[in-house]
Amino acid sequence: MTRSGNGFRMRTFTRDINRIEPGSGIIRRILSVGWNKLRAVPACSPPRMPELRGVCSSLPFMVLASVLLLTVGVIPKHAVAQNIDIQWDSRRAFGYLQKVCEIGPRVSGTEGMLKQRTMIIEHFRQFGCEIRAQAFDVAHPQTGAPVRMTNLVISFDPSAKERVVLACHYDTRPFPDRDRVRPRGPFIGANDGASGVALFMEMAHHMKTIRPRYGVDFVMFDGEELVYRDFDKYFYGSEFFARWYRDTPPDYKYVCGVVADMVADKNLNLYIEKNSWKMAPKVTQSLWATARNMQVKEFIYQQKYEVRDDHLAMNEIAGIPTADIIDFDYPYWHTTRDTARSCSATSLSKVGRVLLQWLTEVPIELGDK
Ligand SMILES: [Zn+2]
Repeated sequence: MTRSGNGFRMRTFTRDINRIEPGSGIIRRILSVGWNKLRAVPACSPPRMPELRGVCSSLPFMVLASVLLLTVGVIPKHAVAQNIDIQWDSRRAFGYLQKVCEIGPRVSGTEGMLKQRTMIIEHFRQFGCEIRAQAFDVAHPQTGAPVRMTNLVISFDPSAKERVVLACHYDTRPFPDRDRVRPRGPFIGANDGASGVALFMEMAHHMKTIRPRYGVDFVMFDGEELVYRDFDKYFYGSEFFARWYRDTPPDYKYVCGVVADMVADKNLNLYIEKNSWKMAPKVTQSLWATARNMQVKEFIYQQKYEVRDDHLAMNEIAGIPTADIIDFDYPYWHTTRDTARSCSATSLSKVGRVLLQWLTEVPIELGDK
């Protein structure tokens, strides 16, 4: 498939990599060769609106945001399943986060990203799920040279025709430009990048035992923030994925979706994100209802930030009602201090347990778009 966008060509190569032998050399081949079989696949990832980013980091904005907290009422009753017994392994999950961080920066198109992708594929292969890669090229925002992007779609129960998509981004921002001391220092993206990856890596261990109501796809978006200046484009991966889903519909349907972004903050506060509330109210309500039933108080049933994240493409382009779980009260956002030390195994565990429980009780009537 050939696409145009912003004056550069996008080419898609998609392939089921489940049957490929392990090894980064193989992965490299996938990236450099146009595979012409297999279904095309889409992708996903992390937050925000370029125009808000600069603003929301300022003190006045923070104050304003706290004043504008909107109570959204009582969580509607929603059919919940018996709480399942989830043997979430906090230490193992946090170990995944550390392992991803040890790779170093994972900027789209770099060696670090390639290493991470290889590691992710190796990890999920052990669960017998179907893994597909969706690759495309974009122009580098500074040099114009082509940058290969690769979304990953990891499917559990791949034959199910009704599916839920859980997405995160797995690239990291090139620089910690909000760092007052070292805005050109290293950016590790422990919360903003690795947390979603680690979340899904641990969730994979439980997919067989929890018996989700629908088929489940973990989608990892590349190119969420190949951003050097605030006006650079965000969301390459999620937009590509969403257009793929809209323009060449697969033989299955996504009933709804969730984007997880910055979910490992030590001081976890998960307010309802405003765009999620507007665009996917039932999904949002059901997530927070599950958290309430599990007494996970970090899911706060109030609106706070309006964030442009990968869920916008999912809602607006793909038509999949998708909520964003994001902790935007993270003081180390886009700084050199977004490291594993600013994250917590407990926070990751809380989000993971809620999502696993929620997968067993996703409301059947979803389709609130
Ligand atoms: Zn970011």
